[in-house]
Amino acid sequence: MLKTISFRCYAELNDFLPVERKQRNFTLSLKTPVTVAEVIELLGIPLSEVDLVMVNSQPVERSHRLYKNDYVSIYPTFETFDISSLKTTQKQPLRITKFILDAHLGKLARYLRMLGFDTLYKNDYGDLEIVEIAKEQKRIILSRDKLLLKSPRVNHGYYVRATEKHNQLIEVVEKFELYSQFKSFTRCMTCNTVLLSKSKEDIRKLIDPDIYRSFDEFFFCPVCNKVFWKGSHFERMEGLILSIISRKTK
Ligand SMILES: [Zn+2]
Repeated sequence: MLKTISFRCYAELNDFLPVERKQRNFTLSLKTPVTVAEVIELLGIPLSEVDLVMVNSQPVERSHRLYKNDYVSIYPTFETFDISSLKTTQKQPLRITKFILDAHLGKLARYLRMLGFDTLYKNDYGDLEIVEIAKEQKRIILSRDKLLLKSPRVNHGYYVRATEKHNQLIEVVEKFELYSQFKSFTRCMTCNTVLLSKSKEDIRKLIDPDIYRSFDEFFFCPVCNKVFWKGSHFERMEGLILSIISRKTK
């Protein structure tokens, strides 16, 4: 007996589907039980492209068996939209969006770090190095170099259109729908290291007495050996973040 199972594939996985199955729910009549992996292959999607499969809103393994009336959502390795809000059953996010940027995007790198995104950047990375690191560490390549992104070894890259740093940040946040993953001011903008929270006593000797008196919250980068506090620079950046968030609600 054939049983009806519903599917939806997300983001670039649609590239593998015929037009009548793209970007919409569709059903298949299948002999059950059938595993998730078998169905993905049947749909013509390479298993290596799939990262997350949810059946009736629960994440499942590829060996999971499907039955009548199941609803299956299939997500790619690097989705270009935000699925973190779907993962309410998970204590930890299943995936953290990480980036590596080419030499043209130093200012954007600082801004992405400001929002808390793990962002690798060096102005002397070679193209090959960027591609290798991205593959190994599952990072999305952001680049202003079309040639680099055309390399057949690049699976997940994005050509940043904007040339001005604020617009670049807005473009990337919107493209990858990063809003719910913001962890602003948790990462060093200079070196990408996660900042440590420090008590006033810990940093008393490291900072100016006026600063010490004026602020209560301090953060420390153990790599740069620098102390940060929420001064006027912070307020400007916070204004920028709020302006990005407000664009989403418009
Ligand atoms: Zn640092």
